[in-house]
Amino acid sequence: MQLSSVRSAVEQLFLPAECLLCHALLSQRDANRLVCPVCRQRWRAVRPPWCERCGQPEPHFGPCRLCNQWPSALKSVRSAAWLDHNARPAVHALKYGGLPRIADDLTAVMAQLRPPSDGPSVLIPIPLATKRLRQRGYNQSEVLARALAREWGGRIPVLVTLLVRTRETPTQTALTPETRLANVAGAFGVRNAKCGMRNFACRLSSFELILVDDVFTTGATLAEAARALEQAGARRIYGVTFARAAIPDFS
Ligand SMILES: [Zn+2]
Ligand SMILES: [Zn+2]
Repeated sequence: MQLSSVRSAVEQLFLPAECLLCHALLSQRDANRLVCPVCRQRWRAVRPPWCERCGQPEPHFGPCRLCNQWPSALKSVRSAAWLDHNARPAVHALKYGGLPRIADDLTAVMAQLRPPSDGPSVLIPIPLATKRLRQRGYNQSEVLARALAREWGGRIPVLVTLLVRTRETPTQTALTPETRLANVAGAFGVRNAKCGMRNFACRLSSFELILVDDVFTTGATLAEAARALEQAGARRIYGVTFARAAIPDFS
């Protein structure tokens, strides 16, 4: 039995079958869920009009300030829901609440984010620094990527060994888009070859890479991860996140 399934069995033993967010009893059909359908519907979808590339609905004139510095291989990024008072507790449960099982609820609203594909794709979760991974016991982005692979039919591999975090970055609260970019500069590296798929890095150019993260704020983390992958040969990179935070000082 895998550790993750033991964890999930233990969770089910101790958690009553009620919605984590509104505490309504879950129906038999939703017994494996943590969030009821009503609460899932309260997650406010991010909708167009938006910047075709970064998916930011802010109106802008001229080049988009959010994505004009992104590496050219990063084609588009989309998020499912706004990080508001309805979505925040769900992200918190995934990240800090020790409830990775909630990823299935989050990815249920991410189904339509699948990028247009005309070749083989792989999902790549944004890696955590080793210390943070040890503290948390799991990488929430990896849990999300695995749930997304199931949501998308289970045929997209999740690659966790290619992209690595080479340094810890300070928590990115209250930083402008520019300082966020500087904050994560050089934070990622690519381990080439012998990383799960033999010589995968050498053939990165023939794959569509879909980066997965829990929250998009300015896209700095995704852009920096994409930069490392582009330097390793990737040509088409997409990003998907469950939530998108409104940027307070961005206009
Ligand atoms: Zn609920
Ligand atoms: Zn943009």
